Amino acid sequence: MKGLVFATNNPNKLREVKELVGDHFKILSLEEIGCLEDIPETADTLEGNALIKARHVKEKYGYDCFADDTGLEIEALDNAPGVYSARYAGEDKDPRAKMRKVLSELEGISNRKARFRTVIAFTYEGKEMLFEGIVNGQITTQESGKQGFGYDPVFKPDGYSTTFAEMDAGLKNKISHRGRAVCAFIHYLMQSES
Ligand code: IMP
Repeated sequence: MKGLVFATNNPNKLREVKELVGDHFKILSLEEIGCLEDIPETADTLEGNALIKARHVKEKYGYDCFADDTGLEIEALDNAPGVYSARYAGEDKDPRAKMRKVLSELEGISNRKARFRTVIAFTYEGKEMLFEGIVNGQITTQESGKQGFGYDPVFKPDGYSTTFAEMDAGLKNKISHRGRAVCAFIHYLMQSES
């Protein structure tokens, strides 16, 4: 069994990915390899930030590593907040403030099209690869639902009548940007194993 580092200390993301990978690969968190630092995400694209994290772990700790970065891209706002989704309303990352900001910027605008996009960067045996997952949807006019996190209460995925925050977590994970990116990544891992 090979060991790969997932550049996260988020227990939910870690559990989700470990379940999907099964016992084909051993997945280690940053904490498990003794990486307790906050890796700075200074790029202006999701791809750039994911690569910074994966490369940092490979270069400093010697492990092959995959790292993800996600953004909410709103068409009428020229794809903002995008790579700045985490801190769109300030350094404290307050989700209510971020949603209020988005809703007020879209006030009176009928084009509510948006998408969540996740990029996974992977350093593996000297190569670098990128995987992507997208879910298209609409920004609602008000917050609905209490599940999930981030912008979930204002994002309604296409083909569904509820926001992500009103959805069962299992369903969200199945159709979400992150779920899709992880599936593309795992598909690659399984193929490279066989
Ligand atoms: P990260 O790259 O996963 O840390 O995501 C960056 C930011 O995007 C987070 O701080 C959230 O505000 C937002 N975000 C990422 N994934 C989701 C999601 O599944 N639902 C809602 N917001 C999300």
